[in-house]
Amino acid sequence: MLKKSLNIVQFFVASIIVILPVLCTADDIVIVHAGRLMAVPGDSVKSEQSIIIRNGKIAAVKPGYIDGKAIADDVKDTLVLHDLKDMFVLPGLIDGHVHVTDELGPNTKLGIVERSDAATAMFGIRNAQLMLGAGFTTIRDLGARGDDAVFALRDAINMGIIDGPRIFVAGHTISPTGGHGQRHGYRDDVFDIIKYSSICDGVADCRRAVREQVRRSADQIKLVATGGVLSETAAGTGQQFFDDELKAIIETSHALGRKVTAHAHGTDGINAALRAGVDSIEHATFADKDSFRLFRQTGAYLVPTILAGVSVAEIGSDSDSFFPASVRHKALQVGPKMIENVRRAHKAGVKIAFGTDSYVSNHGLNAREFELLVTAGLTPLEAIKTATVNGADNLGKSELLGSLEVGKYADLIAVDEDPTVNISALRNVGFVMKEGQVLKKL
Ligand SMILES: [Zn+2]
Repeated sequence: MLKKSLNIVQFFVASIIVILPVLCTADDIVIVHAGRLMAVPGDSVKSEQSIIIRNGKIAAVKPGYIDGKAIADDVKDTLVLHDLKDMFVLPGLIDGHVHVTDELGPNTKLGIVERSDAATAMFGIRNAQLMLGAGFTTIRDLGARGDDAVFALRDAINMGIIDGPRIFVAGHTISPTGGHGQRHGYRDDVFDIIKYSSICDGVADCRRAVREQVRRSADQIKLVATGGVLSETAAGTGQQFFDDELKAIIETSHALGRKVTAHAHGTDGINAALRAGVDSIEHATFADKDSFRLFRQTGAYLVPTILAGVSVAEIGSDSDSFFPASVRHKALQVGPKMIENVRRAHKAGVKIAFGTDSYVSNHGLNAREFELLVTAGLTPLEAIKTATVNGADNLGKSELLGSLEVGKYADLIAVDEDPTVNISALRNVGFVMKEGQVLKKL
């Protein structure tokens, strides 16, 4: 049903796109006056800067507060000026690990069989907008159940039908039979209906599973290398795919131009995925010295998701916890390990990209991860880099995202205080712009 409606909307949007260039020939110019500007996280912060934006992209960054009329090519050019002279401006944030169409809670398990795909997409709109309002202009969805809800959400945002962050979608998580990606705790026939993930066993079948996600228009591939905290099974958190299966998934993804990330907690699974050439590891809770050496050798990113660890430990230690016993045990074991592991990884020189696993924690609270990264030993600037320049690199999109430089998307946010002094300032984002369009202004 949702698919059908989208097609009708697509038709109208396509008609408008054809008509628009005829009606308006002049370029709109958007100018942002930034009191303090961190255009490229890692480079110096500059005062009193002007960001000039055309067609949603950065056309120039100039010192001083520029008068728009001076740069208009043509009197017909429309000028829009945003005064952020009292604010600290930085690039839009990137969360590399979310599940936008769901949120963990006491009713999650029942919700999976109750909620239709269309309702899931609607819920996804709410979650996407919460994250956008929190300053996350780009998110990566690492595993969404059902049919096409997450794809419809991504496409509707890209087409301008609804506001939301830019979404890079992995589609169904790729998991072995009985693995973490295979949702547990239902009757067998129910599993077929909920389409929780793409199950494969053996080399040929794993190649098929990757091709299937690419056919569904996945931007990226997510595999499950080890057991997980939230799977209702006594399988632990060790390696689940064999080495040849990991290799088959990663080689097929790369051959089809997709980056691959691996969910991995146990040391054996982390190291096997890194040896097989994975582009990043999610969680990496029990990483050891060999893992850190492999991270450095391969250039793979670690996406720590400390907030997920803290959140499951909080839920697991609650006396009324809605977690079943099998999950509770793992939650209490894995959660507290994560922060120490990030401390060791950071000291060992592992590249870190920002990710929260938002779904485990409530959507919109993503910036809490910055504080946790700082607790784990990153400087506030290093923490900001994980969600900007590193986040863009982890997506393979540095040419368009992660900093405010000429030719990149005009995705920017503003906060009241300098976040390199007080990282918690990122919890209160007062202004959000995506591709030159203001989506939040307090
Ligand atoms: Zn996740």
